[in-house]
Amino acid sequence: MSKTEFELTDSVMYVKGVGPRRAVALEKLNIRTKYDLLTHYPRSYENHSDLTAIADIVPEESVVIVGRLGDLSSRKTSRGLTIITALLMDETGAVQLTWFNQDYLLRKLHNGMRLLVIGKAKYDQWAVGGISVNQIQSFSVLEPDEEPELGIAPVYPATAAVTQSNFRKAIKSLLESMPPLKEILPQEILDAQELISLDEAMRAVHFPKDYLQLDEARRRLAFDELFLIQCGLMLIKRQTRDERLGIMHSKSGALVKAALNALPFDLTDDQKKVFRAVANDMEDKLPMRRLVQGDVGSGKTVVALLALVKTVESGCQGAFMAPTEILANQHYEKFSALLTGLGIRVGLLSAKVTRSPKQRRELYEKISAHELDIVIGTHALIQEGVNFARLGLVVTDEQHRFGVTQRSTLEKKSDAVPDMLVMTATPIPRTMTLTVYGDLDVSLIKQLPPGRKPIETVAKSRRSRRKIYEFVRAEILAGRQAYVVCPLIEHSESERLADIQSAEEIFDELSRGVFSDVPCALLHGKMKPRDKDDIMEKFRDGTTKLLVSTTVIEVGVDVPNASVMVVEHAERFGLAQLHQLRGRVGRGAAKSHCILVSDSTASVAKERLEILETTADGFKLAEQDLKLRGPGQFFGEAQHGLPDLKIADVFRDVEVLIQARDAAEKFITDDNLNYFVGLRKNLALAYGDKFSQITEA
Ligand code: ADP
Ligand code: MG
Repeated sequence: MSKTEFELTDSVMYVKGVGPRRAVALEKLNIRTKYDLLTHYPRSYENHSDLTAIADIVPEESVVIVGRLGDLSSRKTSRGLTIITALLMDETGAVQLTWFNQDYLLRKLHNGMRLLVIGKAKYDQWAVGGISVNQIQSFSVLEPDEEPELGIAPVYPATAAVTQSNFRKAIKSLLESMPPLKEILPQEILDAQELISLDEAMRAVHFPKDYLQLDEARRRLAFDELFLIQCGLMLIKRQTRDERLGIMHSKSGALVKAALNALPFDLTDDQKKVFRAVANDMEDKLPMRRLVQGDVGSGKTVVALLALVKTVESGCQGAFMAPTEILANQHYEKFSALLTGLGIRVGLLSAKVTRSPKQRRELYEKISAHELDIVIGTHALIQEGVNFARLGLVVTDEQHRFGVTQRSTLEKKSDAVPDMLVMTATPIPRTMTLTVYGDLDVSLIKQLPPGRKPIETVAKSRRSRRKIYEFVRAEILAGRQAYVVCPLIEHSESERLADIQSAEEIFDELSRGVFSDVPCALLHGKMKPRDKDDIMEKFRDGTTKLLVSTTVIEVGVDVPNASVMVVEHAERFGLAQLHQLRGRVGRGAAKSHCILVSDSTASVAKERLEILETTADGFKLAEQDLKLRGPGQFFGEAQHGLPDLKIADVFRDVEVLIQARDAAEKFITDDNLNYFVGLRKNLALAYGDKFSQITEA
């Protein structure tokens, strides 16, 4: 199997030493092409640069030793296991080597040969001197006068079918057969950012000469990844901004003022500042693309409401997308209570409303005839068939659940580009904002409205459950309400989850036990929307006192009379998520409590819950969360629609991220894409067909 042309898109089968069988195993790891193999970056590195003198070997430490083999012997244990032992000797001493169950080695090993051995030493009562190197990672036979090849060795994510040494060999032979990689970045960027060439970086990331070169290689490749993401985001931003103009809203007038007056409170300074920024954007002829971040209860919804009134005052319609039915309902009620008196027509488009074809048709007609000014709904709002007569503003609540790709779907719903306001209560650290929301401008509401009482948070073990529920009972008897949150809906048979009490189980236990005389209800995501609404309604109006629920109540639900939240199996939730959850209490006059119940003995789990006891700052928590769990976990199932990061790390590479963003900004506005074809290809590769604009660029 030989090929003259080298293409990175060639199958891995063409790599020397891979072959059809291993290619199948590699495919299971999503490695199909030479490029995939090349970007199968090492997970870590081993320092083999320093030889260990045999006399200096310490148990439990890694060793790199060179010596002469002697006393080779093998035996079988009663269980049929083959054990090969030998001594390795250098000028300083001798140590036992042990191999388990590798009979074939008997044909390779001979007394007197020189070996380079990499492995780990262990205490071994049977060995001479009480120590044996019995975790041998690799060894190689040296000619009598051969210098051992030392250096930094890559450690790849490997499997049983494709081992560490398979990867090392395959990648090494790929690099050896590979002509120099073509540069994809413009020379100016390489110079300005002091980046090494792509070719050097790609070779060095696998087999670095030293740590300095490794750092440079990593930085270059991380830069590429982040630069590509930023370019993609900038393209989306540029596309919507350049090609179609937005709506120039008029200055805020009597209607916005009337809405402000209708509010039962004054805006906080942060709310004023953010609304001013939003109003400015809306009055501009370029479409607004703004993200408002603010901790739970910081009053983002009020800002959104004012922006919607502003669009109505300018003769447009506004759309408000909520992540759940419950929230859409809640916003609908609040908005219509406030705005109907001002002559603003508010409509609700939810799955419940649209279940009847007749109702749905009527509602769609009202929207397209401009008989509704503000429409609130869930993702039903982005379904085909909803046509606004004149859409001026789209507000998306809890945006990260919708993702970048859905964002552009809504944009396509009208000829003039509506303004877009995105609100998120998930405190997203700046680095993540730059990566995921690179196409948005960001405003922050830091201040909480006056009079908020801090929520007292305590972490408890499951042993204290009786006491905890007595406390909850006392709160309920005092006229307040409580949430009990569980990670699972129903019992799971899976081994990993078998110990977890589900929402159903806890509901049964509580409603038949301690709370048998208290109105309890169960709420979870698998229920019919209608049932969920009913249950939520009864909790909101105070009929239900205790609500056992999954995380469906995580976002935005506002029941000021609820003063206690118990979170069962708290270790199963992320910090940011727990923070969101506890934001459901502490909204009323009473002092509020959040009790995190967990029996996890893992120290990380404990540490995490303790952070919650002492920190009320959602942003700090999110940062911690990202550190402890990594970005993938943080966003959970959220499809943010961006290419995966293989080598860049949003924490370690903050600097690089900012440099990449600046460089991308400059690069894209200079309209270089047609010229740098290699870069454009990479963009298309990275984004696939997610953003067709890019491939057409
Ligand atoms: P968010 O959307 O950021 O979670 P909301 O806008 O729902 O927050 O506000 C949370 C609660 O605080 C609501 O009950 C709201 O009426 C109230 N609120 C908002 N802004 C203020 C303010 N400036 N002063 C007093 N209360 C406010
Ligand atoms: Mg505008």
